Amino acid sequence: MSETSGMSTGPKLRAELDGVPTYKPGRPAAADGPVAFKLSSNENPYPPLPGVMESTLAAAANFNRYPDMACTGLMEELADRFGVPVSHLATGTGSVGVAQSLLQATSGPGDEVIYAWRSFEAYPIITQISGATSVQVPLTAGEVHDLDAMAEAITDRTRLIFVCNPNNPTGTAVRRAELERFLDRVPSDVLVVLDEAYREFVRSTPGEGGEIPDGIELYRDRPNVAVLRTFSKAYGLAGLRVGFAVAHEPVAAALRKTAVPFGVSQLAQDAAVASLRAEDELLGRVGSLVAERERVHAGLVEQGWTVPETQANFVWLRLGERTADFAAECERHGVMVRPFAGEGVRVTIGETEANDLFLKAAEGFRKEG
Ligand SMILES: *Cc1c(COP(=O)(O)O)cnc(C)c1O
Repeated sequence: MSETSGMSTGPKLRAELDGVPTYKPGRPAAADGPVAFKLSSNENPYPPLPGVMESTLAAAANFNRYPDMACTGLMEELADRFGVPVSHLATGTGSVGVAQSLLQATSGPGDEVIYAWRSFEAYPIITQISGATSVQVPLTAGEVHDLDAMAEAITDRTRLIFVCNPNNPTGTAVRRAELERFLDRVPSDVLVVLDEAYREFVRSTPGEGGEIPDGIELYRDRPNVAVLRTFSKAYGLAGLRVGFAVAHEPVAAALRKTAVPFGVSQLAQDAAVASLRAEDELLGRVGSLVAERERVHAGLVEQGWTVPETQANFVWLRLGERTADFAAECERHGVMVRPFAGEGVRVTIGETEANDLFLKAAEGFRKEG
């Protein structure tokens, strides 16, 4: 058999796939322990609201049919809710699906994609898959995006810049003045993606370091800004995979072209519409999580930890070499957290009982030194 027959080498795969980091999902709660809570994936601990559950189950009766490919009902509901034209919307299989489409629409081999690091772990993966080159700009000592350094990293090859606000996994947020100054510096042919997966958890008051802007206000007069939102976090639909972008034409149109056909199931579409209609109750639950976040943050500070301000549904502890030990200690207390080896742990705000167990684990770990 000759080399050229291909038998010995297998199908040719794109070289860009070599060494793509694998996405690490948060570990599930242990099945055998006395109590076990999963605080490792930033999910919403509340079950779906009754109305949301019912409309989703109704859609289940028809899953022999393809979903509405254009997501008509959801697009109209979103247009109404956010005051944007339907032509400025694009949906996808979670906002990660939309982010992947954004890369497909803008970037390929030879192009550069800038984002802060550490930030959302999907960015390096989807950038590498597109064939483009990641340009990672370290967070500041305060664990915040260094927007000046990011602006300085722009070259002729830059096609896309992610700004994760608030940032996953640190929870920190950039303010209006610095973000607008940054956007003013970005060339108009470079797309800036404001990833606002945790927007609903933001509580900013102008007094505390400045307002945290709503990307959907910023995008309106900036054709090179796209905003990503998701139903996975505050809305509690992580398992249904639905997210969306708000962007001007032609970016939104490019997203609709590159999306996986029928990618958003009818269950997901109907659940998202029902969730938007139940928004008052949903956001009431988000308010409870924000109150818990403040309680956990204050508890950690009282124990002596240095914890960055968080505007999301999680807290970040920079533990360096002690990261794995800390995660193991939490696990012994019945809570699974998300370790980033050698860097720190991200802990999702969950049920009060789970948060109490986490605080206890953190306190014990500090005392042991
Ligand atoms: C969770 C998350 C998303 C959304 O994920 P999907 O479930 O794909 O919508 C997007 N960006 C960041 C920063 C996230 O943390």
